[in-house]
Amino acid sequence: MSLADLILSLLRLIDPRLPTTIVLFSLVDLWKMLVVFVITAFAVLCVHELAHLAALRSLGIPARILLGGRREESRFWFLSPMVVHIEDQVMATMQPLQIRLAAASGPIAHLLASLACWCLGLSLPGPAWLGVGVTLCGAMYFVCCMLMNVVPLPVLKNDGWLVLRPETALAEVRRKLGLLD
Ligand SMILES: [Zn+2]
Repeated sequence: MSLADLILSLLRLIDPRLPTTIVLFSLVDLWKMLVVFVITAFAVLCVHELAHLAALRSLGIPARILLGGRREESRFWFLSPMVVHIEDQVMATMQPLQIRLAAASGPIAHLLASLACWCLGLSLPGPAWLGVGVTLCGAMYFVCCMLMNVVPLPVLKNDGWLVLRPETALAEVRRKLGLLD
C-alpha cells in the first residue's frame, strides 16, 4: 500500500464517501487540499465568532472581536485564536439569560456551518481537492466543536460551560471588579 493509499484509507474512516481512487493525491493536490482545509477552518471560525458578536449586539451589549484575546487569562488561549471580547464592567451588568444566548449562538452557527461543509463539500463543482478539503474540514470542525465548545469544560470556561453556569461567570467577573466579597 502506498503512502497516498494509507492516507486515503484513514480519511475514509472519517467520511466513507471519499473517493477510493488516487486521482486526488498528487503532492501538489495534497497541498491544495490543505490550503482549502485551512481557509475553510478560518471561515467557520469567523462564522462562530460573528454569531457571538451578532447575538451580543442584538442584545445591545457592546463587544468586539480580538485575535489572541485570551492570552492573559487562560493557559489554553491558543485554542481560541479569535475571541469576542466584552469589557468586564459590561459583562458584570449582563443577565444570565443574555450570557446563555450569546454563548450558545457561536456553537450553533459553528455546528450548522461545519455540518454544511461536511455534507455538501463533495458536491462542490471543480477539482477533487476542493471538495475533499472542505468536507474533511467540516467533519473535523463539527466533531471538535462538539468536544471543545458544546461539552461544558470548566477548565476552558468554554461556551457550553457559560450556557450551563452563567451565574458562576458573572460572580467571577463581579469579584474581579471588587463588587462581591
Ligand atoms: Zn464561542
